[in-house]
Order: sequence, then C-alpha cells, then structure tokens
Amino acid sequence: MTQAYGLIGYPLGHSFSERFFTEKFAREGIRNAVYRLYPLPDLSGFRDLLRNTPGLRGLNVTIPHKVAVVPLLDELDETARFIGAVNTITVDAQGRTKGYNTDAHGFLVSLERWIPDLRQRPLPALVFGSGGASRAVRYAFDQLGVPHTVVSRGPEKNAMDYAALPGWLSGHPDALLINTTPVGMHPDAAACLPLPWAMVGSGHFVYDLIYNPAETLLLQRARRQGASVKNGLDMLILQAERAWHIWQHA
Ligand code: NAP
Repeated sequence: MTQAYGLIGYPLGHSFSERFFTEKFAREGIRNAVYRLYPLPDLSGFRDLLRNTPGLRGLNVTIPHKVAVVPLLDELDETARFIGAVNTITVDAQGRTKGYNTDAHGFLVSLERWIPDLRQRPLPALVFGSGGASRAVRYAFDQLGVPHTVVSRGPEKNAMDYAALPGWLSGHPDALLINTTPVGMHPDAAACLPLPWAMVGSGHFVYDLIYNPAETLLLQRARRQGASVKNGLDMLILQAERAWHIWQHA
C-alpha cells in the first residue's frame, strides 16, 4: 500500500514540506510514498484524519497545532516531552501515534555548522520570543552549554523585557541573538524587532528562524551593523530530513 505522509496546520498556503518531500520522492525514486497537505482549522478533525487516511505513516505539524496536538498523541519522545511541542508524528499500522520535535535538532546542527567552536567557547545568547520554536532553541542551547535569556513582551518568568536590551547589549558585545518570533515574516516583511541598533556590532551572531523572506529586515540591519547573520533555511531542511529519518526507523 502507498505510504501517506503529510502536514497538518492552518492555514496551509505554499508549503516548504510538501515541495521538499515531493521533490525528494521523485529524486530518490521513492514511488510508494505521497506527501499531502491536511489543512485543519482546529484539531477536532485529527482523529478522523488518522482513521480515514489509508497508509498514513507520518505527519508534520505546523502553526498553530504544535503544542495543542501533544495531549492527543499516544506517546511522546523525551525531547518533545521536554520541549512541550511536536512537529513530527509517527503513525503505526494500528493507528498509534508518537510525537517528536525535530526543530531542536535542526537548530542545533545548523548552529554548530555556522559556529563550529561554540561548545568549546559558548557565547551568551538572547532568545527573542517565548513560543514553541523558542522552547526548541532553548533545549538545543541546554545541550550545547550556551547560557541563554528569553526576551519577551509578556510576563513570562525569568524573561527579559525589550526595554532592558540596551543595558544587556552594552555588557555583551560578543553574543548570539536569536529571533524565534514571526516578526518580519512574509507577508509582514516590513516589520522588525525593536533592537537598539547602535549597540549591535561585529561580535554579534544574529540568527533569524524565519526563511521567507530569505533576508528579513532584522538580518539586513544586523548585517549593516557588521554582525554575522543567518536565516532559518538550513534549520528547516535539517528538521525535515530528521523527520524522514524518524519515519523510516519508526
Ligand atoms: P509561536 O509559538 O506563535 O511563538 C512566537 C513567539 O513570538 C510568541 O510566543 C511571542 O513571544 C513572540 N511574538 C509573537 N508576536 C510578536 C510580536 N508582534 N512582537 C514580538 N514578539 C512576538 O510561533 P513558533 O511556532 O514558535 O514560530 C515562530 C517563528 O519561528 C515563525 O516565524 C516560524 O516560521 C519560525 N520557525 C522556523 C523554523 C525553521 O525550521 N526555520 C522552525 C520553527 C519555527 P512573547 O509573547 O514572549 O513576546
């Protein structure tokens, strides 16, 4: 039977995952697999999807279901449990589900390729945003031994306020600045996090998890200040490859 894979989320417009897996199947001659989009406005249709999709073996999960899908799954792997968000699900022949988080893996591997000596010489990091991607990034930083602080608009415990940024940056001329918010993402590409730009310089590594546009306003401004910059495309590819590995070895 054809193996079915797909993406749940809402809304699902142009999907990276659909293109990535469709091209992969064609390139690698994988003829017994298909990858489809399953737009679910809410998760009330999740169990029906599992029941009514013949050959379903794996799902990716995107906004807004990464956290809400967790209690609907039969099992969670350790990383996903710790992060509290799932972006990959395996479905066995009996319809039993297990959730994984491959964002943390994608972020960690892409970061180490970018800054190879980070484990030996950890830089302090600011993580902008406190949502699902932020939790995956913080999990990766814990693995790498990178000290990190969340910058949030809200009252999350242990988070820093945006107003405190000038003080922090003046004391940390060498640091990682990671955007895990959707600010600056297509179609709102004119938006940008409110950073005190005069304090951003050549000792800063600015990583924006956004991949569309390829260079956000945040990365443009950081680059003009002399910072090293990176977008979220490598992470996106690495998390998708990891999902495929998990589906093949489930
Ligand atoms: P999310 O759960 O909605 O969290 C986003 C966080 O951003 C919120 O918790 C919020 O934190 C902050 N935020 C939201 N609107 C903001 C605003 N107007 N100004 C400042 N902060 C704001 O979303 P997510 O799933 O973590 O995804 C976030 C971004 O990461 C998206 O752009 C997504 O495409 C990207 N992403 C990329 C990859 C990749 O592979 N490259 C993987 C996962 C996610 P506070 O309330 O604490 O401020």
